Amino acid sequence: MPLGSTEQHGPHLPLGADWIEADGLAKVVTSRADVITTQIIPVGLSEHHMDFPGTLTVTREHYKNFIMDISECLIRWGAKRFVFLSEHGGNLDALSEIALTLRTKYGVLSAIPQWWEIVPEFNNQPTMQHGGYAEIAFVASIRPDLVKYERAQLPPPKELTKTIRAELDYFKFKGMTVRTYLRTKDVSAIGSMSEQLHEFKEADLKSATHDVGRNLLQSLADSIIEFIGEFNKLAPLEPAR
Ligand SMILES: [Zn+2]
Repeated sequence: MPLGSTEQHGPHLPLGADWIEADGLAKVVTSRADVITTQIIPVGLSEHHMDFPGTLTVTREHYKNFIMDISECLIRWGAKRFVFLSEHGGNLDALSEIALTLRTKYGVLSAIPQWWEIVPEFNNQPTMQHGGYAEIAFVASIRPDLVKYERAQLPPPKELTKTIRAELDYFKFKGMTVRTYLRTKDVSAIGSMSEQLHEFKEADLKSATHDVGRNLLQSLADSIIEFIGEFNKLAPLEPAR
């Protein structure tokens, strides 16, 4: 089940970046793996991006109930396990709760591959950067016409304090990680993020082209297909008592 979001990704990427990624990756996976794939679910949980125009979000309860209802239909038609191919981190907590319910109530296992966890770095850049180098390449691999390279820029640093570095859901302080909740505009004035490594320059954002992105798409698809091959071998489990 491919799942995305409709949310701002900075001035250079489309609102549909996450669902375009999930849909494109699911199509490659479906063509080569033993799976049945649902339609893309293009809206997810994006409250933290609602300060930027065009973002859509739904309530967590609504989202959970909707995905759960679809999952239960598929179980009635014989589904024995699920791969929730979510390309939006904001969906994770709700999907984890669904995975718990599916396992407990039906003995059905779920897998939730997130692309930045499968390939943490791509061409020496961290993949978990909203609208950054790797995500530009990912979108360009599927819809190069929707990437506005001329608008791509590195977000100016936005510090909450001199000593605490803030990410969306955690602070870094003197080697510690402390969980929090922030809105995207609290950490980035333009909506995209870029945790650059290895003397990365703004011009490098423009090098994340379709051809570069194809390598990322293929390596993600290869990893997920290999995983599904093993996941499909797992024996069914008993529901909880
Ligand atoms: Zn994204």
